[in-house]
Amino acid sequence: MFNVANRVRRGIDQIQPYIPGITDDEIKQMYGLRRVVKLNSNENALGPSPLALDAIRSEMDTLHLYPDGGSARLREAIALFHGVSPKQVMAGNGSDNLIKLLSETFLQPGDEVVVPFPSFSQYNFAAQVMQAKIVQAPLRGDFSYDVEALAAAVTERTKLVYACSPNNPTGTILSADEAAWLLDHLPDHVVLMLDLAYNDYTDRADRVRETKQLLENPRVITLHTFSKLYGLAGLRIGYALAHEDVWDYVHRLREPFNVNRLAQRAGAAALSDEAHRKASMQHAAASREMFIARTAELGLHAVPPEGNFILVQTGNGRKTVETLMKRGILVRAGFAGLEDYVRITFGVEEDNETCLSAIRDALGELA
Ligand SMILES: *Cc1c(COP(=O)(O)O)cnc(C)c1O
Repeated sequence: MFNVANRVRRGIDQIQPYIPGITDDEIKQMYGLRRVVKLNSNENALGPSPLALDAIRSEMDTLHLYPDGGSARLREAIALFHGVSPKQVMAGNGSDNLIKLLSETFLQPGDEVVVPFPSFSQYNFAAQVMQAKIVQAPLRGDFSYDVEALAAAVTERTKLVYACSPNNPTGTILSADEAAWLLDHLPDHVVLMLDLAYNDYTDRADRVRETKQLLENPRVITLHTFSKLYGLAGLRIGYALAHEDVWDYVHRLREPFNVNRLAQRAGAAALSDEAHRKASMQHAAASREMFIARTAELGLHAVPPEGNFILVQTGNGRKTVETLMKRGILVRAGFAGLEDYVRITFGVEEDNETCLSAIRDALGELA
């Protein structure tokens, strides 16, 4: 008899499917709630860029047409924004799409990928798809980056080293000096993948900057997304910057139309939406201060955040999630190595208040 398990590619059974944050529809049904406070997926509390929405509306009548396979106008807009050549830009169906494409481009079975731990799970997923070996380099006790540990984890088989700044889910940054140190100390055969999904949120002077020199280094790839700061997570759009030689190979592997028409128009418009970007940055900065102060008042340890979310030690992450969920508040837990923490995305003020009061009320049960 035909047995799927015997026919699929070897190694797929080792991959765990991604478990996304529960959706607000699911939780509304489960608990009969009308409104849900959704603070579990680092989405933008201010909603999508209004200029992006205008662009989407104006593109609706042409949805019967295929998109531009090369995303030329979008890539031009991104290139202009970053002061690079469009040849250095690749667009994708979310940066998840780009992480997977870059894995497919670089990795063979048995190659090694170094990832910080704890960090974003998509790096591991994309490595597993290619049957590469994942080598975890732990962050320090305070979740700051340990660049020596990242460099020490490299072997002859290492192809990619990831660094996420600010890191999801800890919120800690890799500084520009640390990035420079890493590049100096990584052997020539290694590519540094810098995931800057939240980098525009931090106002720290020592944050990583995408200088011309950094981006001209063929061993550096930076990843960006429209899902967070630009509020377009539902549209699926991200991009990456690297030396054009990298993209020459990635283009051979990507699907011919990997970014849809609406996303191409919306992405370009969002980049020009200075007001929405500034408001999103200010919202995150104000929320960081508020959450630091309020978690301290509650006597809870929180990791000083640099993105649009905060990691808080409530005592039992999963139990915190369950307790808050019953009240219609969604936060995230279940990160490996962080069992006593929850990650809370910054919401609008009222939602943040609702979340913090619920945590205060539940503290007794959680300890
Ligand atoms: C949310 C996130 C992304 C963005 O993923 P998309 O596929 O573009 O939505 C990338 N990296 C990190 C670390 C993230 O948290």
